[in-house]
Amino acid sequence: MYQVRIETEFCAAHRIMKQGSKCSRLHGHNWKIEVVASHDKLDESGMVIDFHKLEDLTKKVVEPLDHQNLNELAPFSNSNPTAEKIAEYIYYQASLLGLEKLLPAIKLEKVTVWETPTTWASYSKGRLSN
Ligand SMILES: [Zn+2]
Repeated sequence: MYQVRIETEFCAAHRIMKQGSKCSRLHGHNWKIEVVASHDKLDESGMVIDFHKLEDLTKKVVEPLDHQNLNELAPFSNSNPTAEKIAEYIYYQASLLGLEKLLPAIKLEKVTVWETPTTWASYSKGRLSN
């Protein structure tokens, strides 16, 4: 299996409603997003997917989050906008926007959200228990 990975970033504020946590105060991050896609074969040009296509799709998903207070956005109206929930949101938005529809054999493997240079959370389908 071949895997490709792209990165992009956005800036946004959030607060985590948890008693006693300093994260409950509004603060901002430069969020780094990593998207990993895979395929067991390469196309005629020797690629899983053109990096630019994957970057463009990811930027389209991330753009509505940029320079926002994430707590005020509909996707996070019922949950804290944690790195975990942002990764899940980006994963499903990328699926909806059609990475797997655009190129049906491509699998969206994982979305990772870096909150700081040393802390991240990721989401991938089928690895969570409900
Ligand atoms: Zn934070």
